Amino acid sequence: MKKTLTSLALALSLLSPHLYAKNNVVVVATGGTIAGAGASSTNSATYTAAKVPVNDLLNAVPQIKDLANVSGIQALQIASENITDRELVALARQINDLVKKPDVNGIVITHGTDTLEETAFFLNLVIHTDKPIVIVGSMRPGTALSADGPLNLYNAVALASSDDAKGKGTLVMMNDSIFAARDVTKAINIHTNAFNSQWGALGTVVEGKTYWFRETTKRHNNTSEFNIEDIKTDTLPLVQIVYGSDNMLAQSYLALQQAGVKAIVNAGTGNGSVPKYIVPTLNQLQQQSIQIVRSSRVPQGFVVRNAEQPDDKYGWVAAHDLNPQKARLLTALALTKNADAKELQRMFYTY
Ligand code: GLU
Repeated sequence: MKKTLTSLALALSLLSPHLYAKNNVVVVATGGTIAGAGASSTNSATYTAAKVPVNDLLNAVPQIKDLANVSGIQALQIASENITDRELVALARQINDLVKKPDVNGIVITHGTDTLEETAFFLNLVIHTDKPIVIVGSMRPGTALSADGPLNLYNAVALASSDDAKGKGTLVMMNDSIFAARDVTKAINIHTNAFNSQWGALGTVVEGKTYWFRETTKRHNNTSEFNIEDIKTDTLPLVQIVYGSDNMLAQSYLALQQAGVKAIVNAGTGNGSVPKYIVPTLNQLQQQSIQIVRSSRVPQGFVVRNAEQPDDKYGWVAAHDLNPQKARLLTALALTKNADAKELQRMFYTY
């Protein structure tokens, strides 16, 4: 009986190999704490990021071989706060080349957690594919007690190799949760439950199996109007963020104008409010073709157009629910298409 079943399975696997063959997942390593090492096992916060090479990361979790055929590429070996638009564009081109290969079924990117959300959102906007792209990090280095990297990596490979992750947008896998790139953010800088989304996780991975509970309604990947293949430069139009508080200085904005910014994201207080003594400076910059985007320093909620400030009158843009760092990237991409303020506002409602 057992022999008959084995022969049947073999015959079926020859007839429809895709039902039985494991998917091919490429792990693209960029550094961060998931590749970090500390002096002792009790150093959970004091360590050097971006030390361990990709093959050692993969060998430390041999269980991933049960999930997929996994290969590794060392794209970068840096702490993620060192990523600039230049690295982001180069990484996107590398990922774009990989997803075009017929024998690649899914991508995992290991990344520092500090700017993980930026890379995830950028790829969500510029890579046209249905194949799962999963960004993963860890909060503790591999040398620490209860390191979270190995299980995060295992879950990320499970997610990237699962057919049900196709077409769901670029995903972030942290602490067993699956998040959408557009609204995930690093919200805690010291614990393993570091990431959240004000709209909730999309699902979870448990024992290598994916469970889905919601989907994003926003355009991403295949349905995005942006494409890394249309970006011919090695970097992006310069967009910077000014953090709002009491006691602001007009000079902060003027210094950015001097530096050549094409747009300024104002991480305003509350609902993206701007002090009345700063408004004339922003209007002056807007009239000199620097786009003004009103975002908020408050982690949850969204900026309502024409509420705290008359955006229609000033020609400003409301960042909706995108946080300042994501607003910066969407604005930079919009400027590659010479979007005006109206067009930029449409994009903020679309992505
Ligand atoms: N600052 C480093 C980075 O973002 C380490 C933080 C981390 O990965 O958790 O790469």
